[in-house]
Amino acid sequence: MDIYLDNNATTPVDPAVVEAVTRHLTDRFGNAASSHVRGRAAGAAVDVAREHVAELLSVAPTRVVWTSGATEAINTALKGLAAVRGHRSRLVVSSVEHKAVLDVADYLASTHGVEVCLAPVSPAGAVDLDALHTLVNDETFAVAVMAANNETGVLNPVGDVAELAHMFGAAFMCDATQQAGKLPLDLSGVDFAAVSAHKLYGPQGVGALITPRRMPDGFPALLHGGNHERGYRSGTLNLPGVVGFGKAASLAAGSLEEETDRLASLRDELERGLGKLGDVSVNGAEADRLPNTTSVRLGGVDADALIVATPQVAFSSGSACTSAVPSPSHVLLAMGLSSAAAEQTIRLSVGRFTTAEDVAGALELIAACAEQLRVLGAA
Ligand code: PLP
Repeated sequence: MDIYLDNNATTPVDPAVVEAVTRHLTDRFGNAASSHVRGRAAGAAVDVAREHVAELLSVAPTRVVWTSGATEAINTALKGLAAVRGHRSRLVVSSVEHKAVLDVADYLASTHGVEVCLAPVSPAGAVDLDALHTLVNDETFAVAVMAANNETGVLNPVGDVAELAHMFGAAFMCDATQQAGKLPLDLSGVDFAAVSAHKLYGPQGVGALITPRRMPDGFPALLHGGNHERGYRSGTLNLPGVVGFGKAASLAAGSLEEETDRLASLRDELERGLGKLGDVSVNGAEADRLPNTTSVRLGGVDADALIVATPQVAFSSGSACTSAVPSPSHVLLAMGLSSAAAEQTIRLSVGRFTTAEDVAGALELIAACAEQLRVLGAA
């Protein structure tokens, strides 16, 4: 099989999670809303999972609402906030947000009269707090800034952004999808947050919306139905998914510290190895970053051509979630890269199951193909 260096797109499911999911698909199946013994057992398993996810994020378990993933959580938060915004019309989002945020913002602008302001980032890729300060005002109903960027791994000053938003009475929504499970994350100061199990060795199709301690009056649900999840997300709970997410969260919390150093040394080795090719730069190198992610520009090498030429290694150009759209990464453009430089950028993201041998093998393959492409390009 391939050498998998695309853990920011999705992670393999940890075997211990597979075991927990399988158990709740088979003998421990049940509807967590049923009142018989099997249903109550399912409900208890959901409660345990809720505690594990809450602990990983340093929030109270009552703030966790299960969703189908981060996209749904973000949609619920931003559309709900727009619905209860009163006289306020402005939504401020960072220019490097995932499309799950940017597209919702566009939707709200075109259909709900919301004024969307894009907050710039520094050349290193972190949100520019001074610029943010000029955009957030008494007209702002919400600010959305991600914890860690999916393409570059660059971290944002979540606490400072929360403080700024609250100073003007705006809600703060933090897309924590990429940081959860990779670095400690304290979401106690944020109002809404989004997380997803498949970025931390859990199953795809399950995530959570972290809600404020006190929901705004009249905050609407995205899905109406059986009044599950305090009415904020109806629908029979995805028991195997939720239990798998809980297991994945508890595994991540237990290995956070030791994993950080190991991942960073694999990431550094990738950067050292690719650096030997010459005309190479690391996007966001000056910023605080996730330990597992590198965004590397290889001068004279088309990233998409490199991916095709190197089928033995799974990696991406820009964000995997948006790679169906053949345009240069909006994240890299926002950091000031030219379209050409963005198109020469690859993203490598190591994970729990990446070994030093994987890194050495990938470096050899990628370097050989990159050199070939450079020769072809020069011909
Ligand atoms: N936000 C970020 C930063 C992401 O990286 C992703 C997925 O790539 C999402 C949101 C969407 O997550 P999901 O697949 O759970 O909807």
